[in-house]
Amino acid sequence: MPFWEIFPFEAEGLRLKPIEPLMDAEPPRGGEDPATCRCQDPDHVDEGVVWSNERWRLHVGEPSGAPLVLFLIPRAHHDIADLPPDLAAELGQLMVAITGAVEALPSVARCHMSRWGDGGAHAHFFFIARPALHGQFRGTCMALWDDFLPPVPVEVRDANVDFVVDELVARVGGQPGG
Ligand SMILES: [Zn+2]
Repeated sequence: MPFWEIFPFEAEGLRLKPIEPLMDAEPPRGGEDPATCRCQDPDHVDEGVVWSNERWRLHVGEPSGAPLVLFLIPRAHHDIADLPPDLAAELGQLMVAITGAVEALPSVARCHMSRWGDGGAHAHFFFIARPALHGQFRGTCMALWDDFLPPVPVEVRDANVDFVVDELVARVGGQPGG
């Protein structure tokens, strides 16, 4: 990676951390026990929700380096490996619709999707917009640039949200907000 033209760091002086010994066990993730998951906290589940339907909520992140960062989360407590078939099918349709809506923004060239899942057990999917014409930010390193670039002004983020939510309602229904 240090030799990729899109690698965000100077290779000179960069060092890998030593490989640590194996853990005794995988550490528990947040919400591993559904009773303590954030989905059970009514104050939390509506935080930053910009679009929703009966089964899913789409949240927006605080302003960051990317023009827009969204998180798609099922209302019911599931990890991706135990999503029931109907939610799994709808997830595919929503991934397509959200990606299309974000990429319809004139300032955005690509909408990257990701799922890591090492922090929280409740399924959550990231959508990270890559600004148009910034070739340096192409590819997986956009997730890093999102942290390093100056945050977009909140009014720009909010205008992007309004555009994407309108697109999404037109494409798949649902409603703005929770
Ligand atoms: Zn949960």
